[in-house]
Amino acid sequence: MRWLSRLLGLGIIIMGLWTWRDTILPQLPTPATPTTTSASQSSTSSSSAASASNTPATPTESIVSGMPLANTYAYHFDNGVPAREQALFKQAVAAYNHTGIVTLTAGAGGATQNMVTFGVYHKQMATNNGTFELGHGGPQIIRRYGLTTTTVNHGSAQLNLTYASELSLSVAMHELGHALGLDHSTAVTSVMYPVDQGVTTLSAADLAGLRAIYPAAQH
Ligand SMILES: [Zn+2]
Repeated sequence: MRWLSRLLGLGIIIMGLWTWRDTILPQLPTPATPTTTSASQSSTSSSSAASASNTPATPTESIVSGMPLANTYAYHFDNGVPAREQALFKQAVAAYNHTGIVTLTAGAGGATQNMVTFGVYHKQMATNNGTFELGHGGPQIIRRYGLTTTTVNHGSAQLNLTYASELSLSVAMHELGHALGLDHSTAVTSVMYPVDQGVTTLSAADLAGLRAIYPAAQH
């Protein structure tokens, strides 16, 4: 975009790109028992470990592709996020920090820094819909064209308090994944599978997707 800054001299243009994804949970039947869930998780993780080297990466949002994003984020909470949901988001932050690929630190951040805003909302779904929405989130890419071009992500992750009893760490991790630029995966072992499976461990494919967005963290 060199032509743009030349054309506009010292002017600054801010371009925002925005994506928003939902997470749904089937209304019926009721969730599987914990025993069944852990059994299927252990069997799938052993099979994915065998083929870890050729595991396809979890898809990334197209708007973050090729964007030179720093791997550091400031995060903060909107007003009105209850203590329980704040705790879920903080656990999600810890899980992503544990990867070493991104680093999220509490704070307001600034216009030229990456940031994530955590929030809540209320949305009642039609009872005959068959699914309900637990949260939504996504990246917002902002490019500033001037003497130098800077690119930052001001992403957002939100939980639907209408279904507060269904909210868990897996949902918070899914929405934060969206905020950081991950898209939906067709693998049920992925945190980014669009229907909540209770997955609270980022899969090898999820990590590969994150590294695709934040290659600077690769060592
Ligand atoms: Zn989603």
